[in-house]
Amino acid sequence: MTDYNFDFLFIGGGILGSSGAMALSVGLEKRGEYARIAVIDVDLEGEHSSTLKNAGGVRATWRNRANIELCKYSIDFFETIKDEIQFRELGYFWMHDEGWWQEINKNHPIYGEYGLAVELYPREAVTEFLPFVDNIDGIAGLSISRNAGLIDHYSLREHYRREAKRRGVVFFDRLYVTKIIVHDYRVTEVIATNIKPTEGNIRDKSELIKTYLINGGAGHHGEVVSFKCDVLINTAGAWSPRISKLYGFNDDWIKPRKRQMVVMRSPEVDLSPYGMVIDTSHVYFHKDADNILAGYSNMDEPYGYNLEFDFGGMDEGSDFVKYIWLPLYNRISKFERIKLLRGWAGLYAETPDRSGFLGRVPGFKNVYECGAHTGRGLMVSYGAGMALSDLILDGKFRDELGHAKDLSRERPSGNLFEELHL
Ligand SMILES: Cc1cc2nc3c(=O)[nH]c(=O)nc-3n(C[C@H](O)[C@H](O)[C@H](O)COP(=O)(O)OP(=O)(O)OC[C@H]3O[C@@H](n4cnc5c(N)ncnc54)[C@H](O)[C@@H]3O)c2cc1C
Repeated sequence: MTDYNFDFLFIGGGILGSSGAMALSVGLEKRGEYARIAVIDVDLEGEHSSTLKNAGGVRATWRNRANIELCKYSIDFFETIKDEIQFRELGYFWMHDEGWWQEINKNHPIYGEYGLAVELYPREAVTEFLPFVDNIDGIAGLSISRNAGLIDHYSLREHYRREAKRRGVVFFDRLYVTKIIVHDYRVTEVIATNIKPTEGNIRDKSELIKTYLINGGAGHHGEVVSFKCDVLINTAGAWSPRISKLYGFNDDWIKPRKRQMVVMRSPEVDLSPYGMVIDTSHVYFHKDADNILAGYSNMDEPYGYNLEFDFGGMDEGSDFVKYIWLPLYNRISKFERIKLLRGWAGLYAETPDRSGFLGRVPGFKNVYECGAHTGRGLMVSYGAGMALSDLILDGKFRDELGHAKDLSRERPSGNLFEELHL
C-alpha cells in the first residue's frame, strides 16, 4: 500500500475542486504560509464529469444574493483572463413569459445594487434585438444581461489547475475513493483504489471509469493508496453524496439528475452576436463554432446516475423533437431545416432549493464541502473557490462574498430557491 500525508485533501478535481485547490494555495501564499494540498480524482481528464458536459454559460442574474455574489465575483475574474478562457461577454438574451417577466422585474433592483447591467424591454422589442424571431406569442418581455456570456470550461479548469500546481498542489489521477476513516468526528484517512487496467485500450479505460461512476464500483482490484489528511474537502460534484456516506454523513439533499445537450446545424440562423439565448419554453441555445448548442432541463427526468444520451432522433415522438426542435421552430421558423448532429448527457447535482452547498459539513471537525450548484457550477467557480478558502483559513468570508454564509447546510437566511435551471 502506498501512503501519503497531506494537510488539505480534495476529493474531486472538476471545476470546483480545481478552483478550491487553487484558491487555497493562493490564500496560503498571500499569508506567507505553505501547506501540502492534494486533489484526488478517478479521472482528471473528466470525460464523465459535469465540468466537461456543460453549456459554458455564465451570468450573475440569480434571485439570491449568495448566488449573485459568487457569480459576479467569478465574472469579474473571468474578464481578467478573457482571452485564455475564450470569454465571449455577449450577454444573455432571455425571452420571458408572464411569470418570469414579473420575477426579473422584481429582482432587477438587486442587480443594480451589484452594478450588473440588465436591460428590460417590452415584448415588441424582441424582434429588434433578435431579428430571427418571427413569433412573439407568449413573450411578456425581453431581458438582456450584459455582464454575461460564454466561456470555455476546459480552459478555465486548466487555468485553475495550472495556478494550483504552480503553488505546489499535487493532482492524483485514476484514484477512486472507496473508504474514509473517521476518529472523534474527524476524518483522518482516505483510502482509494488505483484504477489502472493492466490491459485494454483507451475505450476500455473509459468504460471502466464510467462503470465506477455509475455503479459506485466495478469489482476491479487495483493497488490501495492511503492519504492521511488534516482537512478533507468534498468536491465530488454529483457523486458527493457517495463520498459523504463514506465519512458517515447521510446526504438526502444532493441528488444526481441527467441533463442533456445537443449540437445542431442551422446555417439560416446567425447567432454570432449573442451569448446565450433563452426561449419562454426554457430551451437555451448559443453559437458553438459553426453549429448551435441547445439544451433543455427536463424536470420529468428521474434522479440517478444515468449518463446515457437519449434525446436523439428526428422522429415525431423523440425528446429532441418534443423538447427542443418544436419549441424552437414555433418561435423561429428558420429553424425548420435544422440538422441534429450529436448530443451528450451529464449530471446536475440538485438540492431541494437548487442552490449549492459551501461550508463546513455539520457534525465533523475537519470536513468541508463545495458543490451541488446545479446549473451554476462553472459560473460560481472562482468565487466559490475563494469563499471556501476564506472559510478554511480565516473562518469567515471576504466582504464581497459575505452572503456565501447562506450556502451552508444550515441555510441561516432560509431557503435559497432558484427556479431557473440553466
Ligand atoms: C448539461 C449541463 C449543462 C450545464 N450548463 C452549465 C452552464 O451553462 N453554466 C454553468 O455554470 N454550469 C452548468 N452546468 C453545471 C456545471 O457543469 C456543474 O455545476 C459543475 O461542472 C460541477 O463541477 P464539480 O467540480 O462540482 O463536479 P464535476 O465536474 O462532476 O467533478 C467531480 C469529480 O469528482 C470525481 N469523483 C467522483 N467520485 C469520485 C470518487 N469516489 N473518487 C475519486 N473521484 C471521484 C469525478 O471523476 C469528477 O471528476 C451544466 C451541467 C450540465 C450537466
